[in-house]
Amino acid sequence: MNIKDLIRPNIKALKPYSSARDEFQGNSNDMVFLDANENPFDNGVNRYPDPQQRQLKNIISDLKGISTKNILLGNGSDEVLDLVFRAFCEPNQDNIIILPPTYGMYSVLANINAIAIKKVNLTEGFQIDVDRILKVADTNSKIIFLCSPNNPTGNSLKSTDIDTLLNKFNGIVVIDEAYIDFSNNESWIKSLCKYPNLIVTQTLSKAYGMAGIRLGICYASEEIISTLNGIKPPYNVNELTQRKAIELLNDKNISKNQIKEILDVRDLLLSELKTISFVSKIYPSDANFVLVKVDNATKRYNQLIERGIVIRNRTTQPGCENCLRFTVGNHDENKILVDTLKSIR
Ligand SMILES: *Cc1c(COP(=O)(O)O)cnc(C)c1O
Repeated sequence: MNIKDLIRPNIKALKPYSSARDEFQGNSNDMVFLDANENPFDNGVNRYPDPQQRQLKNIISDLKGISTKNILLGNGSDEVLDLVFRAFCEPNQDNIIILPPTYGMYSVLANINAIAIKKVNLTEGFQIDVDRILKVADTNSKIIFLCSPNNPTGNSLKSTDIDTLLNKFNGIVVIDEAYIDFSNNESWIKSLCKYPNLIVTQTLSKAYGMAGIRLGICYASEEIISTLNGIKPPYNVNELTQRKAIELLNDKNISKNQIKEILDVRDLLLSELKTISFVSKIYPSDANFVLVKVDNATKRYNQLIERGIVIRNRTTQPGCENCLRFTVGNHDENKILVDTLKSIR
């Protein structure tokens, strides 16, 4: 497969915006910067941020064991996913394939970009229906979005099925790994050298506890990364975000300990849920949330809201009738949730 054939013609022909600063980031201390019409008085944020986020990328590169050339950072995963749409999907012509029940942003972004959506529901066990996907895919199907572990079901998708799609689908396969750090499974970034059509996305919003700073990560071949680099807004990751991410990622133990504690609370929650009379099914989870089937999801959702607990009602999603999704909180929050579930009739 030639990735160049998948890139939109206008993007292939694009001459990206270039800032003078781009070339001089490394030796910034001994230079006088009069190129960007900034205010010269130092208040910590008077300069434009590094458009290539070099220091932050180096840390992520070490953490994940992958070259900085295979990394692109964005204002949350949502920006990264939008860039992928704009690179590969021609408005009012191309389509994408999504696998409901899944993360809602893929279809929102498709609608924003005027891209048609083909839906191939996950199987009853929330796995990939590979044959159906390959059947519905046509020459305008440019991207398949896989979410593993999947939101809202919590399970990981079978790697043999993902392998088949990567081999047989004539387009880009995006694997959204927002929850990978809660899972025992290996990240697909290890397979980037094997599959030129693979894009993996991750985020600092979940396991790393930085939803507030908006930092999404895209891993792909050098060719795809340089294409996305050409279309991203030059200063898409702001200075405060870069600085805070560098600070928090430098202490590897913070997130490691927090992930362990969240998983402990999750297992406690799973065992407590078994004792709740109106819970009829608890789905296994590789993430920091659990999906449960109850007698009447909307009724239970409203009862929890009345008692000040906000969860997610997923009952309208395919295969999720009467299902609720609980995020795993801390020990205290979990106790409030479980005590409340035990008290409602
Ligand atoms: C939460 C979540 C994200 C994170 O998006 P950000 O924009 O990085 O906060 C991405 N994908 C899935 C499936 C999610 O659940």
